[in-house]
Amino acid sequence: MNFSSTNLYARWRQTALGVPLVGETVGAPPPERLLQHVWQHQRLVRDRLHLVDGSPVQVLHPGFWNHEAGPDFRGAVVQFGNSPARTGDIEIDLAPAQWHAHGHDRNPSYRGVLLHVVWEPGRAGDPLPTLVLANQLDASLADLAGWFGGEGASAVAPSLAGQCCAPLRELAPERLVDLLNQAALVRLAGKAAQMTARARTGGWEQALWEGMFRALGYKQNVWPMLRLAELLPQLVPAGGVVAPALLQARLLGVGGLLPLELTRRKLEPDAELRRIWDQWWRERAQFAALALPRDVWRFHGLRPANHPQRRLALATHWIGDRNFVARLERWFAAATEGTGIGATSRTGTDPATSLLAALQVVHDDFWSWHWTFQSARMTKPQPLLGAARVTDLAMNVLLPWVWGRAVADADDARRDAVERLFLRWPAGEDNSVLRLARQRLLAGGARRFPRTAAAQQGLLQIVRDFCEHSNALCTGCRFPELVRQIEPEMPAA
Ligand code: SF4
Repeated sequence: MNFSSTNLYARWRQTALGVPLVGETVGAPPPERLLQHVWQHQRLVRDRLHLVDGSPVQVLHPGFWNHEAGPDFRGAVVQFGNSPARTGDIEIDLAPAQWHAHGHDRNPSYRGVLLHVVWEPGRAGDPLPTLVLANQLDASLADLAGWFGGEGASAVAPSLAGQCCAPLRELAPERLVDLLNQAALVRLAGKAAQMTARARTGGWEQALWEGMFRALGYKQNVWPMLRLAELLPQLVPAGGVVAPALLQARLLGVGGLLPLELTRRKLEPDAELRRIWDQWWRERAQFAALALPRDVWRFHGLRPANHPQRRLALATHWIGDRNFVARLERWFAAATEGTGIGATSRTGTDPATSLLAALQVVHDDFWSWHWTFQSARMTKPQPLLGAARVTDLAMNVLLPWVWGRAVADADDARRDAVERLFLRWPAGEDNSVLRLARQRLLAGGARRFPRTAAAQQGLLQIVRDFCEHSNALCTGCRFPELVRQIEPEMPAA
């Protein structure tokens, strides 16, 4: 069954945004906007990237999208071969010759560019290391265009109700739920496609770890966490056994997250740090070429519970558990067993609660009592995984992973079970994007907004597909017109 042909929202995206359905081809050169999205989300074969001269390159952080004048991305961290990682800017063009043609070579704003990213090779146009995207994407250009919504765009979100607010208000409640759910399923399929693309080169388990690490990186540290996950095959050789304490030392050491100084005031943290350093000293030279620079991490505004030291400690427990994937499979089977799939499991708990139980680490001598290596002992132990993160992991990683595998195996029953669980999952934490989206699309109408994570995901997808392609005045947005077409009858999903 073709997902796109049965999902109304997927057809809307094609009609309104001009994006191809999965499997269609795109003949013309891609718009630079699409290439910028590809770079931002690193939809590349990251484990085998090479420059036009054939030398290897690793992107430790893609940098921050610059919407002002100057290079496209600022503050990227890139490692050329085995050289130390460098921090600098990224410029994206269609061809190497545009470096001169666009005057970048004469513009002082571009002096910090360390990598020229182009769509396809051409006449040598710049003296910079050059990376060609055309043959290094992790999926077809048509699939990526479909996921990012054609050319992609960005706009400053307004604080006023949008033009879709009125037609959405006219929708019967069940129609609104249908619409949000269909948009959410488009989002699920997109995330699954990304994991499937990674599984093609690294295997499903590696795709899972990379997704989990990314999610544990939250907004600030997605890229260094992903990089550590990509290094796992080198840190934990296939079939080999690495004791959890040793793996923790490797991840923290390679990640550049081990403090160089003891606190000299807090006994337990200092003792733990000494113990980890004792392990890491012995292996430091062996893994030196993989080491991440310390400044690739972002700590500003980070809550102690989300500190990467603590998150890596949690991941170490998961990786060290040989039954981890089997435990997830058992959880999924239990959560989808019976008639009311997803609402409650056979254990009588909701799926978020049972997933938290499956992922929780019972106890860690140090990390249950300390937020970081600098923290004093807490008065009572804190779980390594909080309830609020479970919905994030489920919606963004675990369910897309199971869905992607089901589609790859042509297992329609399993895919349907994932979708039912996905659509019934209780709502996760609110955030500023969701609040603004509710204000624009629903005039803040929290009463009409279903309390499910799928509704949240659907809203985020609409923002991505429509709001981000328009402006504060909703200029040119086709969403209101499409919503008006729903009434009186909406085709079944
Ligand atoms: S840009 Fe489109 S989807 Fe977004 S608020 Fe305006 S009308 Fe609604």
